[in-house]
Amino acid sequence: MRHQNRILYASRVLGLLKRRYRNAMHTGLNHENPWELLVATMLSAQAQDRQVNLITPALFRKYKSIDEFSSARPSDLYRYTRSIGLYRTKSRNIVNAARIIRNEFKLKVPRSIENLMKLPGVGRKTANVVLSNAYGINEGIAIDTHCITVANRLGLANSKKPEVIESELMSTYPKKEWQNISHLLIALGRDTCTARKKICGRCILKEVCPSSTLKHMAGSKP
Ligand code: SF4
Repeated sequence: MRHQNRILYASRVLGLLKRRYRNAMHTGLNHENPWELLVATMLSAQAQDRQVNLITPALFRKYKSIDEFSSARPSDLYRYTRSIGLYRTKSRNIVNAARIIRNEFKLKVPRSIENLMKLPGVGRKTANVVLSNAYGINEGIAIDTHCITVANRLGLANSKKPEVIESELMSTYPKKEWQNISHLLIALGRDTCTARKKICGRCILKEVCPSSTLKHMAGSKP
């Protein structure tokens, strides 16, 4: 696809997604501040947002600040986190992240991808989620498994590697839309375009998507 056509197509996709999923343009993880969002995002790896939202209220009632988390032992967190997969590793990472933020960042959650990724258990996706949702900083685009599936089906990316997809989307969309396109692709991937099944018949993008089964049927010879 030529660059200009690609930009037009991408813009059309964004407009249609906003029309359908405008209410999903925010993180589904409940939080009151950047630290709570960081903890919730770390817990959400390979878990559902609603599972995380069930356990974080009690966790944040018990440990009210980064300082309090930094003084805990990882095993102290288990009674709150044990319903989540990999809870031992995640609890250890959370406590160690709190200690690093206390010792190196003056108890403030870092405001750059580079410094966020110095924290244990924080990869580029988590860093992007925290930066964009907690601080409104669009330094990159959070790419999760839904984004990988959907961006490829839509022809917005041609790779399974998150960093390649992120770079392709960053070169396609204006910076102010980076957070939005991540949320919108995730919403589509949870709704009609799941990894297991494409429900093109009720997809908002069925007329424009190159992977739409309906388009292929319409264009195929009898
Ligand atoms: S038209 Fe089908 S393949 Fe394309 S985004 Fe929608 S559900 Fe996915």
